[in-house]
Amino acid sequence: MALLDGEVYEAYRHELLNRYRQLLRTLGDKVTKDKIKKVREAFDYAARAHEGTFRKSGEPYIFHPLAVAQIAAGELGLGTTSVISALLHDVVEDTDITLDDIERKFGSKVSEIINGLTKISVVFETVDKDSSLQAENFKKMLLTLGEDLRVILIKLCDRLHNMRTLGSVPDKTKLKIASETLYIYAPLAHRLGLNAIKTEMEDLSLKFTEPQTYRDISAKIAESKQSRQRYIREFIEPLKAELESSGVDISEIKGRPKSIYSIHRKMQKQGIPFEEVYDAFAIRVIVNAPIHREKIDCWRVYSIVTDQYRPHEGRLRDWLSRPKNNGYSALHTTVLGPKGRWVEVQIRSKRMDDIAERGLAAHWRYKAENPSGKSNKHSQQDDAFDNWLNSVKETLENNDLSALDLVNEFKSTLLGEDIYVFTPKGDVKALPIGSVALDFGFNIHTEVGLKTIGAKVNGKLVPISYSLKNGDIVEVLTTQKPRATESWLEMVKTARAKSKIREFLKDEKTKLSGQGRNIMARLFQKHGLNFTDNSIKTITKFYKYSSPNEFFNAVALGKIRMTKDLLLDILAKKTPISETKEIEIKEKKKSAGQIVFGEDYELPYSLAKCCNPLPGEPIFGFVTVSDGVKIHRTTCPNASKLMSQYGYRIIPASWQTQYKNAFDVKLSVRGIDDVGIVSKIADIISKDMEVNMKSINIRANDDGTFGGIIEVMVNTSHDLDLLVHKIKSTHKYIEVSRIDETVE
Ligand code: MN
Repeated sequence: MALLDGEVYEAYRHELLNRYRQLLRTLGDKVTKDKIKKVREAFDYAARAHEGTFRKSGEPYIFHPLAVAQIAAGELGLGTTSVISALLHDVVEDTDITLDDIERKFGSKVSEIINGLTKISVVFETVDKDSSLQAENFKKMLLTLGEDLRVILIKLCDRLHNMRTLGSVPDKTKLKIASETLYIYAPLAHRLGLNAIKTEMEDLSLKFTEPQTYRDISAKIAESKQSRQRYIREFIEPLKAELESSGVDISEIKGRPKSIYSIHRKMQKQGIPFEEVYDAFAIRVIVNAPIHREKIDCWRVYSIVTDQYRPHEGRLRDWLSRPKNNGYSALHTTVLGPKGRWVEVQIRSKRMDDIAERGLAAHWRYKAENPSGKSNKHSQQDDAFDNWLNSVKETLENNDLSALDLVNEFKSTLLGEDIYVFTPKGDVKALPIGSVALDFGFNIHTEVGLKTIGAKVNGKLVPISYSLKNGDIVEVLTTQKPRATESWLEMVKTARAKSKIREFLKDEKTKLSGQGRNIMARLFQKHGLNFTDNSIKTITKFYKYSSPNEFFNAVALGKIRMTKDLLLDILAKKTPISETKEIEIKEKKKSAGQIVFGEDYELPYSLAKCCNPLPGEPIFGFVTVSDGVKIHRTTCPNASKLMSQYGYRIIPASWQTQYKNAFDVKLSVRGIDDVGIVSKIADIISKDMEVNMKSINIRANDDGTFGGIIEVMVNTSHDLDLLVHKIKSTHKYIEVSRIDETVE
């Protein structure tokens, strides 16, 4: 072997050959001679390329790619393309060899994968502190998810091997790599269903970040091994006869200690010592069964176990009927075992066990390497996985997100656990924990999401912010026009909803500011003024907007009305009109004072359209730039913004005790349809002596709900409260709310 000629390899020669042969054994005899030849070529090629370089441990570098290939083949069950890519994964980055060289020698698929892997690591080694650059780098890795999943899988193998050999790198790097692994790689491995890799990554991270804790817990697990095994024997004993006569082929029953990391988490979370972590291990029963019998056999085992030991109420987790969407499938239950101890029992088939450890990569590998494979049935797991991959892609396509936001979003929404909810027709949707009704709308379709005004969950009306729970039956209620606002971004959980709302708001803003710009341009033209960048800047500054676009938005929304004089004033850079001056000007056309300001003085005012305050309600005055004093309710949706940003323009105000005018109020009503509901409501309003109806506009929808707007005139907030109460009492499922308009 030419590659082993160098002296430095002598000492390692034997070991290297051993490991190479082990790799071939792992690939097994199903692999064709041709492919073995390619693997050999890749191995030689990589060894030559890395010749003369060493790892921190002192080993020749080639041991690393060989180990990564071994993990890919042995622990993930990946095929030769992946093995070849793993062998070559550091070649382009660390040596003079180019991607073209790789493509010529090993074909385009391998070079694509190497390209992905190289892209990931470019920034990686050089960046230490800058989290945004680190995020940038991670973003690159995620982008490769969309290209070829093997890139990520090999990256995970690479990271795992680096973690296994982390002992020999400097402390500072150690901590960085370990915490990064814990933050993003382990959750990613979990999401891909690679349980064994995830667990090992977590344990190793703990080993390097908290060595003492790690040693303590692993020592205690080792200590308790005997008593654990004794307990398991005791647990199985009474089941033996039943299991044997049941005809179920039991492959294995074992006690699995929890991982060091998860025991540590539990001790921390509950503030308890090791000895009190009652579920430090679970009993796992694995059955041999052909695929069509595996569920039945699992349930049979379940029934034998629970005949003997009382199951914990509400601790049955059936992932047989509906696998988790990282592909995990099994039956979990907690039973009262010997010595009065609660024990978790996990029941699954050999195949499920394999998927649980190696993840969906197993399915995927089959698809990729045998695209025409007929036995590749489309399973529930595949669906779930494809869905997940699609939402990853969607998140990534959203270019608005900074790299850091993207990483955080990815972590919180795409790497978390899911809940399952149902459409009224019984279709299942998987959503991340914490999703709200609005997320469901967006999950159905973007158009639906944008127009969602509420939902029926298990038949009851709920607001869009309602937190969904496992098993909920959800039906969204929509309007004609999109309703999305900034506040929705705070409400939704899913990346998909967020990105769609952002897109929508951005479009709206662009449209609006275009309109605003036109309005201003026309105004300038009309008065024979030049519409220049400079004058736009001056006006924007005058009105304290952060950018011309924001200003144009305000113009389009009618928040700013400008006269020629004012325009000339502003352009001449005169000082802003002082608040007192403006008030004095308006004082001349005084309105009938029903409101007193401050201690006891009167000012002209008008009622803000956004919240239409009523006599009796707490209010405040807001001095506007060009429209005098506006009265808002303190509960106005815009109040907090006005108060926090323009505190100096707020004046205290209250209603005079005598007043006689009536006030306009708009009410929104929604409910589940009921015969004659409209006439019932109309009846109530018309009989109310304190209320005048202006209009009533309610329609029944095809989906069994109704909704609409009622306009009435009332004298006081008290009258209004009474009216709302009466309308609500007409029907069990009716919602009445006052319509406020958020203008910003
Ligand atoms: Mn590497």
